[in-house]
Amino acid sequence: MGNGPFKINQISLGLVVLTTIAIVWFELGMNNTLVITPAESFDVWATGDEENQGNSKADYKIDRAFNLHCLISSESTFDYPYCNFFFALTDDDSGVDLSRFETLEITVKHKSSQPDNLRLYLNHFYTDKKNGIYPYKLNLHRLNTIGSNQTFKIDLKDFNVPFWWVCQSETDNPETELTNVKHLLFTTGESRVGREIDIQVKKIEFKGKWFKKGILYQSLLYVWLIWIVSQLLFSFFNLQRTSARLRKRSKDLEKSNQALDLKSRLLEELATHDELTGLLNRHGLKQMLDEVLADYKNSNIPFSILLIDLDHFKQINDQLGHDRGDDVLKGLGHILNGRCRTSDIPARWGGEEFVVVCRGSSIKGAAILARSLLKEISRTNIIDERQVTCSIGVAAMEGEDVDQTFKRADQALYKAKEMGRNRVVEAE
Ligand code: GH3
Ligand code: MG
Ligand code: MG
Repeated sequence: MGNGPFKINQISLGLVVLTTIAIVWFELGMNNTLVITPAESFDVWATGDEENQGNSKADYKIDRAFNLHCLISSESTFDYPYCNFFFALTDDDSGVDLSRFETLEITVKHKSSQPDNLRLYLNHFYTDKKNGIYPYKLNLHRLNTIGSNQTFKIDLKDFNVPFWWVCQSETDNPETELTNVKHLLFTTGESRVGREIDIQVKKIEFKGKWFKKGILYQSLLYVWLIWIVSQLLFSFFNLQRTSARLRKRSKDLEKSNQALDLKSRLLEELATHDELTGLLNRHGLKQMLDEVLADYKNSNIPFSILLIDLDHFKQINDQLGHDRGDDVLKGLGHILNGRCRTSDIPARWGGEEFVVVCRGSSIKGAAILARSLLKEISRTNIIDERQVTCSIGVAAMEGEDVDQTFKRADQALYKAKEMGRNRVVEAE
């Protein structure tokens, strides 16, 4: 895929080069010629109208040119007495396909004792005679060559079928036909006046290209059209494939985003919660405390804290095993979760110490909660083996640093331990 556009550019460049070569080659080369010279010619002959009950005589000679000598007699049954000078273009019966040629170049010297002109005929031979009663269709071009010794360049399009021939032949196709031309015929001019004529033809040359100009440009046009359309189709399908791939990629990204989101929420949960009890851990509680402190500072909403420590927990571990100790921690977590109001924030502070932050509570309110917790704990068989108790220190925020409040709660807890455990002590 990576080198796709490069390949396309290479092919386009190749096509441009090929098109240029084809056009230049066509314009400057690809020449197709048919030359008739005295050295190189098929049958040549001349006739006067005497062979057709006229009195005009023709004879010819070939040296370095084709020479016709003609005596036109005005005593003739024809409107225009004539001499004919025939040049066979091929010895093939069906003639030459001159439609491949564009021009006819002839070098002629034409002398006459009276005004004269020259009629050129290209005789198209009918291989089947469906197109008329004559074996040849005459294609005519008139040339004013009198007194000249020069080369004439005639466009083959300028040959036309004479009107009299169309009428007499009963053809249904009056168009010029040059696909089976057997002879080029020079005929003297349309005049009744008796005269002596000398015509010298040095060279006859049909010129054209290997194929018609239109065919070349049409073919080039088709090649370019096919190339452009195939490129458009290729780009269209490529675009579809790319957009399908992008859609799939964006779906994959969405999925992995969701997975990442879930993972980050899990990580957040793990970072802020205690795995054993499901309560907030110390880090999680500190985040919540920021809000509680902001409410206290900005809106004067009071809060108190309970610091809870299990009594003789080491013994539980030692006597019943660490797993049972964990069960006790879980049980206490459960009770804290169940007893606390929605405004209270229970958390595991570390080891077998727990904290409850009571929002909106004075020290008295917090102490009431603490006592009810003690009651609940002593009433509940957290484990069957023995009674579990704990001691609680309570302190209210009194405008000091929050660490100070914790310290006072800790001192109260210490006092509760000293006083025999399983009790609540309020900080001073
Ligand atoms: P006191 O009544 O004075 O508080 O006595 P205590 O035995 O509870 O005091 P101490 O702080 O010496 O013991 C706490 C014990 O808690 C020590 C430690 O092994 C245990 N402990 C801390 N974290 C965990 C835990 O996650 N699971 C278990 N099973 N035990 C823990
Ligand atoms: Mg302790
Ligand atoms: Mg303890």
